[in-house]
Amino acid sequence: MVKQKVFFERAIFLSWYCSRGDCSFCYMSTQKEKISNPRLARRRIESILAESLISKICDWRVEFLSGGYDSYEMEELVDLTKKICEVTSQKQWLNIGVLKQEELKKFLPYIEGVSGAVECVNYEIRKRVCPSKPLEEVFEMFRVAKKLGLKNSLTIIIGLGETTKDYDNLKKIIDEYGINRITFYALNPHEETPHKTGPSTEYYASWIKKTRKDYPSLEIVAGSWVDRLSEISELLRAGANHITKFPSIRLFGTKHAEIIEEEVRKANTVFLSNLTKIPTEDIKKLINELSFDTSLKRRILERTNKYLKKMNNNITK
Ligand code: SF4
Repeated sequence: MVKQKVFFERAIFLSWYCSRGDCSFCYMSTQKEKISNPRLARRRIESILAESLISKICDWRVEFLSGGYDSYEMEELVDLTKKICEVTSQKQWLNIGVLKQEELKKFLPYIEGVSGAVECVNYEIRKRVCPSKPLEEVFEMFRVAKKLGLKNSLTIIIGLGETTKDYDNLKKIIDEYGINRITFYALNPHEETPHKTGPSTEYYASWIKKTRKDYPSLEIVAGSWVDRLSEISELLRAGANHITKFPSIRLFGTKHAEIIEEEVRKANTVFLSNLTKIPTEDIKKLINELSFDTSLKRRILERTNKYLKKMNNNITK
């Protein structure tokens, strides 16, 4: 039997600001008051593009481009998405809040689909944990995306107080909006938020298992935090295709990265991403082939070398 192929998927963050900033589980909700100027919370373009390049040469798929609401102008986001698309040779998924039809149209050449923040399918709990992110807006984006020929993806966090009785709500969303991909996360309680514990692996995996049983060809990505890595084999056996949510540059080549590779083997699947060996590609050549101006290329090269040095230091420690 052909073994399932598993990728590590890395979400690329574009900024550390969100104008909504009040989802109770989200790290950004702890930062909003500390950031007076949203534009200063944006990452440098060369950092974003260097991270995209590292993702490409390590065979990490970009899960989606992620950023809080209102930290970029729309034209800036389109340009950034176009550039990431060029660096990775991959059309992107957008997870940057709700986008309207006219906005989505601008991204069409560079994106495969959109990701909607469903987060919780117990709707009473959702109203409390995401007070400023109405689901109806997300659903409307799904409708528009389908009309434009795009794919739809959603994110859902398990452990916010929902129970498996709420699963039917997820099923309805998948059916009604033609969802092509789901990213599951286990709640990761951040300091300064009201959430104190994440779900058990058994309960978390049960959501993936139910979904896989009902949707054999749906793409399922499962997040596992550094302190939960030993559950990855179980998440893959439950039906996840790929894994995400690992700080793959900061922890490249560490024992944590080795645990992931081991977990993928344990699940009798094949890992196509590299989390432990320094890539040998000619970075300079790859960057020179890009259509960007000389100054940007130089800055991307500097940043990429900085990331690679960090990754290499982990290995030689
Ligand atoms: S809208 Fe997204 S980024 Fe903003 S607080 Fe909520 S989860 Fe966090």
